[in-house]
Amino acid sequence: MGDGVRVARVWRAVLGVEHTVIEGVDLEQVGAEEVLVARVRPVRSRRNRCGRCGRRSPGYDQGEGRRRWRGLDAGTTRVYLEADAPRVSCPEHGVVVAAVPWARHGSRFTTACEDTAAWLAAHTALAVLLRITWRSVSAIVIRVVAEAAGTRDRLAGLRRIGIDEISSPLGPAVSAVNRLRAGCSVRPTADRRG
Ligand SMILES: [Zn+2]
Repeated sequence: MGDGVRVARVWRAVLGVEHTVIEGVDLEQVGAEEVLVARVRPVRSRRNRCGRCGRRSPGYDQGEGRRRWRGLDAGTTRVYLEADAPRVSCPEHGVVVAAVPWARHGSRFTTACEDTAAWLAAHTALAVLLRITWRSVSAIVIRVVAEAAGTRDRLAGLRRIGIDEISSPLGPAVSAVNRLRAGCSVRPTADRRG
């Protein structure tokens, strides 16, 4: 097996994708963050398929050009897959964005990313893994945040822990945590009188 073939296999495993050609992988500076961007394309047999039914269909146009999908983080580094997103003309569904093997139709996240988020949400992995209750989780979060802030006063008025539920791949799990937390008795007091 040549180096190139082996490297491509490693990247497919890291990115959690199949039927996908890895054209290249680069680090890119986005604001203060360095993210990993993998340029990809479907293998030939997966090209020109309707995004809704998967039927092989004639090409229509280039759609809105290059597009990115959020993948599972590689360690602490954010990962994006970047590819063309052409449109095809499906006999049944009309002009639609072509299917890609790494993501569900209409999603900005890779299938691997969504599956992980769904699994976490379904299994409430945090409490399961640590074998502790949600009440304990809330108390731990409050203590850790208080220590990081250097003072408990910073928590006055705190009602929510600020985690971006939209852009995080763990959004569904975070939403579940927030819903469960709302049912817990642990709520930082809003008493600012000291
Ligand atoms: Zn179709």
